[in-house]
Amino acid sequence: MLSVAEALARITGAFVPLPAETVSLAEALGRTLAENVVARVTQPPAAVSAMDGYAVRAADLTTVPARLRVVGEAPAGGAHDGAVSAGEAVRIFTGGPLPAGADAIVIQEDTERDGDTVVVKETVAAGSYVRPAGLDFRAGDVGITAGRLLGARDIGLAAAMNHPWLRVRRRPRVAILATGDEVVLPGDPIGPNQIVSSNGFSLSAFVEACGGQPLHLGIAGDDQAALADMVSGARGTDLLVSSGGVSVGDHDLVGRVLGEQGMELDFWKIAMRPGKPLLFGRVGGTPVLGLPGNPVSALVCATLFLRPALAAMLGRPESNGAQETAVLGTDLGANDRRQDYLRARLSIDSAGRRCATPFPRQDSSMLATLAHADCLIVRPPLAASAKAGEAVDIVPLSGGILGI
Ligand code: AMP
Ligand code: MG
Repeated sequence: MLSVAEALARITGAFVPLPAETVSLAEALGRTLAENVVARVTQPPAAVSAMDGYAVRAADLTTVPARLRVVGEAPAGGAHDGAVSAGEAVRIFTGGPLPAGADAIVIQEDTERDGDTVVVKETVAAGSYVRPAGLDFRAGDVGITAGRLLGARDIGLAAAMNHPWLRVRRRPRVAILATGDEVVLPGDPIGPNQIVSSNGFSLSAFVEACGGQPLHLGIAGDDQAALADMVSGARGTDLLVSSGGVSVGDHDLVGRVLGEQGMELDFWKIAMRPGKPLLFGRVGGTPVLGLPGNPVSALVCATLFLRPALAAMLGRPESNGAQETAVLGTDLGANDRRQDYLRARLSIDSAGRRCATPFPRQDSSMLATLAHADCLIVRPPLAASAKAGEAVDIVPLSGGILGI
């Protein structure tokens, strides 16, 4: 059986970044930047005041209190036309341009106004409360680098850099197919022996949270014709993701149907839990990721393999695998040959350490515990038993702009 690391390498190696497209800033949240954002302006464009107060010459204030003549006003968006000469001050407001001759701002709180003069009660150093031109950035500076998942701060910076449009990667179009005679849509009549389908919805949301565009193909029953028909709906997408029907049972037909359609199979089984049956291949040029049907297996496999596949299509550098750690909240037994991912809660222990406590039952049908988990504890193949307080690798269950 293939290791998780090998499966991941094969999957991510099968995708290249999609072409770029242009979107307005208002549409840029959650998109991935395709080209560096380079400042088109210098910010601030000229020296400005950081406070409400008076623009002064620091040399006039070596002894205080000092009286200065107020010769004008410099509000934000306006300017004082003249210069500030010895013994003079200009009333200034936050963002107002520093007048020629002035080299410091005295804050309003350190002054008393008396008609045309201002009494300054504190000395100031040259440069005080002055934002020099280009303090934030200069025209030509790289503000955001390609590959960045755009959040509110990035969008603010792109706007400040005078970009109304951004070049972003096209969203990966991902066809999502649920399978099984037993599953029905939420809200539909539920027959005897049927259950409500969660995978189609969780996987669609997952794809969206990772920056992709889901295309919900629906639910295919466990018969070859229906499956073949629905698989054809994936034509023209960047990836087909199915759930269920990839195991070894008599009714697990996904592999057979894809095989009949000429699938080039890459692999079908990996050494992990939850989620041993995981199929990866290519049908008619479209990559296919066949996820297991159990709702937890489907989403854990999506976290480990689908998210990196989407990141690869978006040209987003993404570190994979367990890089974060926590200490164990309970003892754990030795592991078998499969890499185990245990749903766990995170807390801070009495020593201030991040502590991961697994749920006592880890059955892969238990979606509620996955929804309530904060992380997955990673147990490598053949890991020895571990005591509470020992460090373990974890995969935090968050990510993407919306979280997963
Ligand atoms: P399978 O891989 O098709 O054998 O499915 C494994 C288990 O996952 C079975 O108990 C299925 O009922 C369940 N399952 C499959 N598809 C879904 C789905 N879309 N939503 C919820 N459970 C599912
Ligand atoms: Mg099934």
